[in-house]
Amino acid sequence: MKEQVNPAESSGASERSGQKMGEARQRSKARLAEPVRYRVSMPEPHSHLFDVEASYPASDSPLTLAMPVWTPGSYLVREFSRNVQQAAAFDERARPLPIARLDKRTFSIESGGRAVRLRYRVYANELTVRTSHLDGSHGYLNGASIFLYSEALRGRQHRVAIDAPPGWRPFCALDRDGDELVAADYDELVDSPVEVSPQQPLELSVAGVPHQVVLWGEALLDASKLTSDLEKICEAAAQLFGGVPMKRYLFLIYLVDKGRGGLEHKASTSLVFPRFQLATPKGWEDFLTLAAHEYFHLWNVKRIKPRSLVPFNYAAENYTGLLWAFEGITSYYDNLLVRRAGLMPAGRYLVRLGEVVTSLQATPGRKMQTLLEASQMAWIKHYRPDENSPNSCISYYVKGEVVAALLDLEIRRATHERRSLDDVMRLLWARYGDERGVGEDGVEEVACEVGGPDLSAFFDRSLKSTEELDYSPLQHVGLELKFRVKESAADRGGTAARLKPAEMKPKGWLGATLKGSSTIGSVVAGSPAMEAGIYAEDEIVALDGFKVDGATLFSRCEERQPGEVVRVSLFRQDRLLELAVRLGNKPADAAYLARVEHPTDAQKAAYSAWLSAPWEEAASGS
Ligand SMILES: [Zn+2]
Repeated sequence: MKEQVNPAESSGASERSGQKMGEARQRSKARLAEPVRYRVSMPEPHSHLFDVEASYPASDSPLTLAMPVWTPGSYLVREFSRNVQQAAAFDERARPLPIARLDKRTFSIESGGRAVRLRYRVYANELTVRTSHLDGSHGYLNGASIFLYSEALRGRQHRVAIDAPPGWRPFCALDRDGDELVAADYDELVDSPVEVSPQQPLELSVAGVPHQVVLWGEALLDASKLTSDLEKICEAAAQLFGGVPMKRYLFLIYLVDKGRGGLEHKASTSLVFPRFQLATPKGWEDFLTLAAHEYFHLWNVKRIKPRSLVPFNYAAENYTGLLWAFEGITSYYDNLLVRRAGLMPAGRYLVRLGEVVTSLQATPGRKMQTLLEASQMAWIKHYRPDENSPNSCISYYVKGEVVAALLDLEIRRATHERRSLDDVMRLLWARYGDERGVGEDGVEEVACEVGGPDLSAFFDRSLKSTEELDYSPLQHVGLELKFRVKESAADRGGTAARLKPAEMKPKGWLGATLKGSSTIGSVVAGSPAMEAGIYAEDEIVALDGFKVDGATLFSRCEERQPGEVVRVSLFRQDRLLELAVRLGNKPADAAYLARVEHPTDAQKAAYSAWLSAPWEEAASGS
């Protein structure tokens, strides 16, 4: 299915209508024309209010200004205009101009064609990579949630001056001209988050290009290890593509109590990560893969991008079926780059890949939703999960990463090790790095060009069907997929069983997940819990008359034999219920990658080429 609902593209204002050369000339003319200017101040950081004064040059009358409803890279309508307040418009002589709200995100100003000054405030009290934040310690500006724009002036240069509180200064990847940050157009402004803070940046260099790191939130880490590890990862990415595509780069890192995530930008990234986890080896590894993920996006999505998102439509959802490639392939490379940088042993790499396969195979929704649909419906599914999501959806990150790994191995097999997914990425880069956008079938076409036409069957099965994935490409590198029963609630798969076979007995199974300590999060379709009538949001209180919390409920059920009947007591909307549940047999859904028993020399060599490690160091799956 090809879906493309993009009003901005079909309107007369679209940059893509008309002849290409004319467009380029028009664009460069637009940039020479008078810019849109913003001055942002933060006189009362504790109020979480940014004061914005915007100047729009003379143009159409009335002047129509709008806030984006979403921020590129994060596919959810967030209605940023809900945080805008006290908007007032003036002409150049400071005389008030009539201003009206046309809809949830749009203002109309009776400007009479003259230049307009607009003052407004933006409430910013949400510290995520997709929103803006201001408090007594810093300001973080995510452009889409701060800057009102005019579609007619969108192609012009946009400039921002920041009035920082004493001791603070702005960090941003944009060019500077005096005290102004200079964006070539509104899209570049939105793509260039600004951190205003008293921090001293850390410096590193990749492929001769300066990179800065700005940290917020009491960093409990070794700064020299941070810069040295980031440098190695970025160098690994630069090596793949033959250099880096920007003249400077900025890592904005926010260390928080809970929550994690990253958002890619064209010359920067914002990362949020739980600070105390950084002190653990697993947490550090997770952090490095997050940084590698956003850095890989410099190529894969920020420049090689879906054509249906060119240009972005800031007014509504922008649909593409290609998120499996832009997020899935990027997720595959995030681990691989850390491996290539020498910061993750090959054995650990295989464990992590096994954990991703486990996540896929433990999700019943993989049998309901294709990878293509998961990409297309990101706006209402992936970004708006509910208790039915595990039963009805599959993540394009998770399945996309597994498909990318299998695709890489399949290309290596089909071309007798002459080509790999690296070559697909390089060809995509050569062909689409100019940002004109990849068509909905473009990634498949390029992969077939590199790996051979037989890949079309691979894509049909992996992207367009809910059939189980074909894991046979693992054989090419001497590995096979194995399954076992999870041994504890914390068991994420990826490794062979820790228990000896004699210690393993069949385990009783309910088939539900938790939200918090005792509340049912979701009920697995077709499970004993569903058959017995346990619902999401039920609050578990007892098993067979004895008090339990959620974790104890599951572990006690696992002590019982499949087929036994247990009595589960729970509150549902304040009412105490007791339900009889006939326990099932806990499924073997923990996956791990194990060596084949008698590997050939060719398999060993292919393994070494894939993970840059000798076969002898290959994980035996434990
Ligand atoms: Zn991503």
